[in-house]
Amino acid sequence: MVLALVEHESDRVDELSLQALTLARDLVPTRPGPVAALLVGEGGREAAAQLGAYGVASAHVAEDERLAAYAPGAWARCVGDVIDRIGPSAVVAAGTSRGNEVLGHVAARRDLPFAANCVAIGGDAAGSPGEHAAGAAFTVTRVRWGGSLLEEARVHGELPLLSVAPHSVAAAAVNGAAAPAVEPFAPALEPADLLVQVAEHVDAVQAGVSLAEAKVVVSGGRGVGSADGFGMLEELAGLLEAAVGCSRVVTSAGWRPHTDQVGQTGTNVAPDLYIAYGISGATQHIAGCKGAKKILAINADAEAPILASADYAVIGDLAEIVPAITAELRRARAR
Ligand SMILES: Cc1cc2nc3c(=O)[nH]c(=O)nc-3n(C[C@H](O)[C@H](O)[C@H](O)COP(=O)(O)OP(=O)(O)OC[C@H]3O[C@@H](n4cnc5c(N)ncnc54)[C@H](O)[C@@H]3O)c2cc1C
Repeated sequence: MVLALVEHESDRVDELSLQALTLARDLVPTRPGPVAALLVGEGGREAAAQLGAYGVASAHVAEDERLAAYAPGAWARCVGDVIDRIGPSAVVAAGTSRGNEVLGHVAARRDLPFAANCVAIGGDAAGSPGEHAAGAAFTVTRVRWGGSLLEEARVHGELPLLSVAPHSVAAAAVNGAAAPAVEPFAPALEPADLLVQVAEHVDAVQAGVSLAEAKVVVSGGRGVGSADGFGMLEELAGLLEAAVGCSRVVTSAGWRPHTDQVGQTGTNVAPDLYIAYGISGATQHIAGCKGAKKILAINADAEAPILASADYAVIGDLAEIVPAITAELRRARAR
């Protein structure tokens, strides 16, 4: 049986956890048995009830009022409790900062192998897919160096811990699945588990569509020139019902808040269309937008590295191109 750590906000299951569940399901032929889920804290029972469609047969919900604030040690304790109870053959989580942090704690506490940010997981390298002898090494392909390198590795050990790189698989529901059996439990928390916990949440100041979920992202880099220059991108984003993103140069210059930054040290986005205005296409930036279905680059430099990742490009000065696109959109809408 594979155990999946599922993140949720109240009763809403995180999309990245649904993606991780989709990969966990594919592990079942190599590690036979149904998928079990672990949900931690408030809203867990309601969120768990939705997981049948993602192949979950049983859902363990950790309940304790001390879990109200996220505490990585306490979550690791919950994972450990369920490992002891059901004896899974692998543990999978989303490759979020939380998923990776919790599995890191579990790995350290139990001396288990942990492969972070996997995009594919296969059977024993020596055997064919689907043939996996218990305890044998199996292969993972995982993202390294901010997405610029795919590493193929063999993971040895009875209980591998694996996180799934965000947006590397699409979340897919299965037909006709029954609701999972929901099993609440009280984790055996110790004071040391709660030494580190979140003290306060500060909501991002955000108007309109969220960057992580937008279907279209209008993103600007150094080429935009100034904080005021983003006014024209805001206007265009409004017409396209898009979110505004940016590069790290922009956040470092204080033109936009860090919450708008796309990339290795910012947000990962996976829109239908990513429009990059005046962004050179550093690997650390591309790491955050390579999940986009299409990339349109607008750049003055025909040799800019982003053109290697772009599906479409317009070479020219964005001070002329952005107003022209905006005007054309307004004209088209007025027809
Ligand atoms: C550990 C680490 C983590 C990092 N994480 C991130 C991250 O998460 N996200 C991120 O973005 N970066 C990140 N970076 C920084 C990254 O390496 C680049 O420095 C950064 O992405 C460059 O930003 P830029 O493309 O806006 O600027 P530049 O590289 O300076 O590119 C500006 C582009 O604008 C074009 N341009 C200029 N004027 C115009 C104009 N008038 N019209 C059209 N085009 C024009 C230029 O041709 C150029 O291609 C990270 C770096 C490190 C070391």
